[in-house]
Amino acid sequence: MYIFIYNAFYIEICARKRSKIMETTFSNTKVELVTGDIASQDEIDAIVNAANAELRIGGGVAGAIHRKGDPELTQLTRPLAPIKPGEAVITEAPGLPNDYVIHCLGPVYGRDEPSGDLLAKCYKNALYLAEKHEINSIAFPAISTGAFGYPMNDAAQIAFETVKVEAHELEFVKLIRFVLFSEDDLELYKEVLNEIIG
Ligand code: ADP
Repeated sequence: MYIFIYNAFYIEICARKRSKIMETTFSNTKVELVTGDIASQDEIDAIVNAANAELRIGGGVAGAIHRKGDPELTQLTRPLAPIKPGEAVITEAPGLPNDYVIHCLGPVYGRDEPSGDLLAKCYKNALYLAEKHEINSIAFPAISTGAFGYPMNDAAQIAFETVKVEAHELEFVKLIRFVLFSEDDLELYKEVLNEIIG
C-alpha cells in the first residue's frame, strides 16, 4: 500500500516537473523530448504503450497506462492479443486523457532477432496506425529499454533514425513526443538526437 502511494506520488511529481528540453523538426513534424509519465500526457492524441505480448497490465509503461486507464482498457486489448515483436495495435483510451493508445511489443534484447529491425518496426507501425486514424500528436516511451533490456543509446538511435525517415510520409502526425522517465535518459536521448541532426 505504502509502495503504491509512493509510486503514485513519484509519478505525479515527474508529471508536474515535466520540462521540454529539446525540440527539432523532421520534415513537417515537430519532435520533442520531455521527462515525465507516459500516462499523463494530457494534450497528446495518442500515447504508445510498451506492451507485453498479451496486452495485459504489467510493470513499467504497461503498468502505468493500465492502472491509470479504466478497466475497460484491458477489455479492449484482450481480443487483440497476442501480438508479436514489432507489431502494434490501437485501441481507444478509456480513463486516460488521450483519444487512443497504440500498443507496441518491442523486442527482448538478446532474444528477439533481428532486434534493431524489430524495434524500428514498432516505431513504423505505431506511426502507420497514427496516420490511419488521422492522429495529430503521438507520445512514445523508450520502447524495450526497461524490462526488455535494450541498451538506451542504441534504442534512441533506432527511434530517431526511424522517425526521421518516416517523417517524410507523415500527413497527419505533426508532433512526436518522446517521454523519458529520468533526467539521465533524457540527457542521453538529447545527445543522440543532437548527433543525428548534426
Ligand atoms: P519494455 O518492456 O518495452 O522494456 P518498460 O515499460 O519496462 O518496457 O520500460 C520502457 C522504458 O520506459 C524504460 O526506459 C522505463 O524506465 C520507462 N518507463 C517506465 N515507466 C514509465 C512511465 N510511466 N512513463 C514513461 N516511461 C516509463
